[in-house]
Amino acid sequence: MPRKYVIHTKEVPNRFKAISRSGVIAWEEGCLKCAVCVKTQCVYHVYEHRSLDPRQMIDSIDNECMNCLRCVQSCPKQLIHKAINPEYKSLGDDYWTPDIISKLWYQAETGKIPVSGAGYPGPFSGPNFDSMWTDMSEIVRPTRDGIHGREYISTAVDLGTKKDHLDFKGMELVEESAPAVVAAPLPILLRVPAFGAFEQETIKGWARAASRLGTFLALPAEMNPEEAEAPQSCLIPIVSLPQAQSGQGNGHSLLVEILWSEHWRKAFERMSKSHPGALICVRVPFLKGAEERVLSVAKNGASIIHLEADFHGRSQQDETLLVRDGIRSAHLALVQEGIRDEVTLLASGGIAMAEHVAKAIICGADAVFIDFPILIALECRMCLRCKEGLSCPVEINTAPASWVASRVVNLVGAFHNQLLEVMGAMGIRDARRLRGEVGRSMFFDELDEAAFGQMGYLKEGYELE
Ligand code: SF4
Ligand code: SF4
Repeated sequence: MPRKYVIHTKEVPNRFKAISRSGVIAWEEGCLKCAVCVKTQCVYHVYEHRSLDPRQMIDSIDNECMNCLRCVQSCPKQLIHKAINPEYKSLGDDYWTPDIISKLWYQAETGKIPVSGAGYPGPFSGPNFDSMWTDMSEIVRPTRDGIHGREYISTAVDLGTKKDHLDFKGMELVEESAPAVVAAPLPILLRVPAFGAFEQETIKGWARAASRLGTFLALPAEMNPEEAEAPQSCLIPIVSLPQAQSGQGNGHSLLVEILWSEHWRKAFERMSKSHPGALICVRVPFLKGAEERVLSVAKNGASIIHLEADFHGRSQQDETLLVRDGIRSAHLALVQEGIRDEVTLLASGGIAMAEHVAKAIICGADAVFIDFPILIALECRMCLRCKEGLSCPVEINTAPASWVASRVVNLVGAFHNQLLEVMGAMGIRDARRLRGEVGRSMFFDELDEAAFGQMGYLKEGYELE
């Protein structure tokens, strides 16, 4: 049995004060000037340490307060209140919500799984991955020795093609019939996000994180750091057709990605010749009918296909098409054609939380790319100022590579632990077995249809009596 894969994490402090969910509002007007003010009784002494960070205009009280509400409850004139911080509410957007962003910050800082307390307070269904539930029926008791205990749960995946049979010549395996795979210890690959205030130093940090984790970082070939700055074997250069034709790309890479276009075969052949030891991945955009394109690319020789949705997990062409369904259709098309094991299906776009990794695999992906989470790990607020050429409020461009690497290792460590928790609770001991395992999940749309479909549909404008 292979050695257990464990990601070692350690606390890596924020460089900036995080925007907290709630803020203390303390009115002075009407104060009775009590002999012993409730503010002096705060067990965390937050009023005594109070200071203002002038660079970010953040009051230290909001970050240090532990929300025990003692001061709120004890002030006889009720002059102290806690309220949702408007700056927190304005983080991100409908998909990259403040809750997701702040949990990603927490995981990158501590390497721990975020815990929301007793019970789940959120809605039970929503768009995309939120309308999927996993069957956790194998949870019978907390394991005595935790997720890294005696039971071995493997998160390793193979990238490449597995042949449906082996050919031998005498006692020798015919080389062409051997599986051509690259192993990754977890089904999470990193990818440089489409935008962000990052610099070469940030990319070096991401590459070092990929190397420490034993996974890969996909990046445009022109961003490739030097050999001395990052091990080349963990990089996946993304090469365009003109770059492929001019022989660009990294000669030491185990994997290379090319972009799908009408002429993708030309780039594929060019890269296969110039990189005989590398596996070539073809990136297919998630557009209408993407499953047919995936099938055609697979039948034409690609062993790794990357289905790319937009950063909200939707089709780049039609926002009603969800990546969850795109992965499922592509997976089923390959299954029906009888070539599923000959192809590795990677997915990207909108993978924002650890649960999305498990759900994307259940839908049929072998592994996923995470892109914006590795930017948010660096305290990004998803304010999109960098997209407009404005300065970054958390100066990501100045972050040293060592800090970047450690934050990303923490984040992926927390994702990995959550994946182990989900797989353990589902009774699945190997990530390769989780792929396409929809029998261990429930889809809201299907349950809704089964329970209420026969009642018909309400047309717009009609009301229930
Ligand atoms: S709510 Fe509790 S922790 Fe926060 S400032 Fe008041 S007493 Fe201190
Ligand atoms: S914080 Fe804003 S400006 Fe900085 S990288 Fe993130 S989105 Fe861009």
